[in-house]
Amino acid sequence: MTVSNSLLKSVKKTSGILLLLPLLLQLTAKAQVLKKLIPDKVVVLTFDDAVLSHATYVGPLLKKYGFGATFFVCEFVTPPFSDKTKYMSWEQIAGLSKMGFEIGNHTQNHTHVNKMDSLHFVAELKYIEDKCAQYHIPKPISFAYPGYDISPKAFGVLKAAGYQFARAGFDRPYDPAADHPYLVPGITTSATNRKQVFDALDMAKDGKIVVLTIHGVPDEAHVWVNTPPELFEEYLKYLKDNHYKVIALRDLATYINAEKALNITPVFKK
Ligand SMILES: [Zn+2]
Repeated sequence: MTVSNSLLKSVKKTSGILLLLPLLLQLTAKAQVLKKLIPDKVVVLTFDDAVLSHATYVGPLLKKYGFGATFFVCEFVTPPFSDKTKYMSWEQIAGLSKMGFEIGNHTQNHTHVNKMDSLHFVAELKYIEDKCAQYHIPKPISFAYPGYDISPKAFGVLKAAGYQFARAGFDRPYDPAADHPYLVPGITTSATNRKQVFDALDMAKDGKIVVLTIHGVPDEAHVWVNTPPELFEEYLKYLKDNHYKVIALRDLATYINAEKALNITPVFKK
């Protein structure tokens, strides 16, 4: 072999490796984000808006099933949080926490993050954190965007305040290797999307996790996001009978390195 031939070969080899480099880096980054392989049939249950039925019905039923869940609480303005025929009291929220459920932050007044500046957002987060401290509830590390409105401006605030995961809308399964942890997609249940929910539950496989967003069961405060109790129990029974692992959002830290996952490029589209 001549010197120039050998040089050519080595250049070819190097360029081959260089071509593979982005792929290798991507694989390494993926491996760093995932602490361990995500098993099939992992489902996260999240319940929004501090609706009364969360304390009187959902919590005790989930306990019976041995399921975990996150309750994202806020103090609604309309109808007002003071209406205890519609919303939980802070004592009831603390009761859910004592039962082992996660209490997450949904802002003080359900203010959309794209409708307030950073200082206002910090104050709304802190209001819920202070209430949690007052009622001996662990400091929230999960956040849910009111109205599913997202904003890049929210990221710095969430990170500085120590949040690990933030759930949005999107209505599709969560891919922890590709989705930014502050843009965790949720699939919203209603009175009319039974098929969509069952189809979604079947997608909890091949590294993907299904996060359900549920409001009141039933929901007297916001009827358009009502989930009827009999439909809800059908979902729970299906999850139990089919051996799903049903957890809170914070429990994702078992599988995902939230710190490393913050390096994933966020995609801001609804
Ligand atoms: Zn909400």
